Amino acid sequence: MAQKDQLISSKLDPIRFQLRWHHQFQFAGYYAAKEKGFYERAGFDVTLVAGSPEVEPVTEVLAGRAHYAEGNSEVLYSRLKGEPLVAMAVIFQHSPSVLLALKSSGIATPQDLVGKRVMSVGGQGDAVFLAMMNKQKVPVEQVEIIGSSYQIDDLVQGKTDAFNSYLTNEPFYLEQQGVPYNIIAPKDYGVDFYSDILFTTEEEANNNPERVRRFKEATLQGWKYAFANPEEIIQIIREKYNDTKTLNHMRFEALSIQGLIMPDLVEIGYINQERFEAMAQVFLQQGMIDNLDALEGFIFDEEEGVSDEVYSLLIAACLFLVAALLVAMVLALFNHRLQNEIQERKTVETKLMQLADTDDLTQLLNRRAFTKRYNDELVRAQRYGDIFSVLLLDLDLFKKVNDRYGHEAGDRVLKAVADLLREDTRESDICGRFGGEEFILLLPKTPLAEAVVYAERLCQHFRQYPIGLRDDKSVTITASIGVVEWSKDDVDEATILKADKALYKAKSEGRDQVAIYNDSL
Ligand code: GH3
Ligand code: MG
Ligand code: MG
Repeated sequence: MAQKDQLISSKLDPIRFQLRWHHQFQFAGYYAAKEKGFYERAGFDVTLVAGSPEVEPVTEVLAGRAHYAEGNSEVLYSRLKGEPLVAMAVIFQHSPSVLLALKSSGIATPQDLVGKRVMSVGGQGDAVFLAMMNKQKVPVEQVEIIGSSYQIDDLVQGKTDAFNSYLTNEPFYLEQQGVPYNIIAPKDYGVDFYSDILFTTEEEANNNPERVRRFKEATLQGWKYAFANPEEIIQIIREKYNDTKTLNHMRFEALSIQGLIMPDLVEIGYINQERFEAMAQVFLQQGMIDNLDALEGFIFDEEEGVSDEVYSLLIAACLFLVAALLVAMVLALFNHRLQNEIQERKTVETKLMQLADTDDLTQLLNRRAFTKRYNDELVRAQRYGDIFSVLLLDLDLFKKVNDRYGHEAGDRVLKAVADLLREDTRESDICGRFGGEEFILLLPKTPLAEAVVYAERLCQHFRQYPIGLRDDKSVTITASIGVVEWSKDDVDEATILKADKALYKAKSEGRDQVAIYNDSL
């Protein structure tokens, strides 16, 4: 377990966070972010460092002793004075910094401060009160400003007439002591300052914008948690950070802080540029700064590093890519369909051509297709001096097969003959059904003698092997074959005519035989 913790912490980014003041509920969000694991999940190992009059957030961050910090209006003031600070988020929408006076003193408005002593923290922290007095036409030179002892008892004991206090803090002591008091809040006189600003250096914001974003997110998550569970965070502060403040004091803090953060009305962390401008105007009017130039770039830009121009370019490029992709997809789809259509048409055409060339019953070439192939062979033979032979085969007395077994049986016999011719011939041989029971063969590169041997073998086959019909019946058929070898003088279908003459001779000489063509026929 300890090993696992070590592993986790070794991967975490160590961060020093400087708080504005001592540990108290004012910083509830940071404790929540750390103790509830929001920082760890964001990759940080955060050390929360308490502040004091000697340890100030702006100084600590500028000196590089803290990565991030929370400060008041002095963050903006330092920025306007040229310090490279960047505001990441505003936690308090209104400043808790007010003036307290004893009710018994009758001091209740800025005008009442004339001729009175005001204990203040000094420096820029006084700006908000000076601005308030100026607005109320209070002659400031007639107000005696004295350095703060940070002891509220000094007010109770009359060592000062007004005391610069935190609304969330000192009033609690007065209430406990039962001392009635008045509050003079600059906000009520038109000087409304932001407070508790989460900030870092410009260098960090520029070099590690992603880390800054992550830290801000985890912090704001902590604040949301703290407001949803104030009692839990109060207990954590008491146990782990500060046991000098009573639980009731922290509960008082929690309640008064709600009024300053207004978590129900304003998104925690929200920054309105105009509010910073108004604050800067106060500094300007007090003569504390010369101009507002440094205001530009004070607020951390979440989109830092990606300029608007680059952004629009990126968006345009993305849109273009998407459009191009869509067009490409449509084209691809269209092309795919077209390819399919072409393929389909080719297949259909091939089938149609095959159909047109094929005899329905026997699937051999029909007479027209055979004649075409015959003519091709003829041209080839003439050109290359090749030879070929033609066999014309007619089944003998086929009418009788039909008469005796029926037309269907006749068809069966024709198919069987076709199968035999197809199987028994070479690939290059051309085989066709020339008429009803008439078949024709063209044997390329085959001399007459070989063709005759083949024809004889066919006749022999028919004699020897009966053809099976339905119902275990079979029929023995015979065939007459006329054979001829192409001669160079033969043009057109002369060779086929010669084969037909030879066939007629075979028939007339008693059928079931082979006859060779000779010129005397
Ligand atoms: P030959 O020996 O003189 O050739 O006698 P044959 O009966 O075979 O000759 P013929 O030309 O007189 O008769 C041919 C018969 O072939 C006629 C016809 O019934 C039959 N025939 C033609 N085509 C088909 C067919 O597609 N199917 C069937 N079952 N019979 C057919
Ligand atoms: Mg016949
Ligand atoms: Mg016939």
